[in-house]
Amino acid sequence: MRRKATSANCAGFPSFHYRDSGITLDLVTAPALEIRDLHVAVEGAEILRGVSLALGAGEVHALMGPNGSGKSTLAKTLLGDPAYVVTSGSILLAGEDVTACSTDERAARGMFLGFQHPAEIPGVSVLNFLRQAMAARKGISDLSVLEVRMALIEWTEKLGMDERFTQRYLNEGFSGGEKKRNEILQMALLEPDVAILDETDSGLDIDALRVVGEGIERVRAARSCLGILLITHYRKILDYLTPDRVHILLDGRVVASGGTELVDALETSGFDAFRETQAA
Ligand code: ADP
Ligand code: MG
Repeated sequence: MRRKATSANCAGFPSFHYRDSGITLDLVTAPALEIRDLHVAVEGAEILRGVSLALGAGEVHALMGPNGSGKSTLAKTLLGDPAYVVTSGSILLAGEDVTACSTDERAARGMFLGFQHPAEIPGVSVLNFLRQAMAARKGISDLSVLEVRMALIEWTEKLGMDERFTQRYLNEGFSGGEKKRNEILQMALLEPDVAILDETDSGLDIDALRVVGEGIERVRAARSCLGILLITHYRKILDYLTPDRVHILLDGRVVASGGTELVDALETSGFDAFRETQAA
């Protein structure tokens, strides 16, 4: 079977012609991100034990689980951290298997990871970091400072940030809220097709939470094809972002997938209710 990409207005929305003996012509839209029966080991211990989900273009899925359930393991595996070994299963971006791809390749193909604990990089300003990351994402070796600045002016304003912030060294001395806003700023500028946000809401007070929640909605409004996997163990952020689907992760397995009724069930009975379902 020969496959040819015929349009990619948004890399998350590829349309493919599948041609078989020149007879069949099908238009297929694959999910932005698909995880198939993923098993992952860290330092020899199996942490993820069969995770499957499909995130459509433009959708928001919430992945909820208690501490230690494997949420960050999934996030780091998705971005290709070599410490996390895929022992079976696969990861597909817009229908293409990226399980064996490097982090750089995944990022260039439109995957973005917002870290639970963003690294501090002394000596590298937010501006310079973004300039390099944007150049890599766009496949351009040298992106003009002006172009980056224009985008930064637009987005720092939309996200209610002081533009001088971009002169500071990446995450150095940033408050919890500033770090998380900076992750949203990166997401806005890198124009990903799939964003995995790992506890972007953790450690935020209620005002910062609102700013981050609304910021994510602004980025979505500007990029309708963006699919978001929102990893969290609190429901509060979901006041600002309504997920299309909710998945509950327990001990490295998705034990329930459904609508926002799962969030309500969590509110009343906690994760233990799902533990019992799993045991039954
Ligand atoms: P969560 O993000 O849901 O709190 P994690 O994915 O961070 O959970 O952790 C799940 C399990 O995997 C924990 O038992 C943790 O100790 C283990 N784990 C995760 N990353 C590593 C690592 N780099 N080295 C050793 N163990 C790890
Ligand atoms: Mg975590």
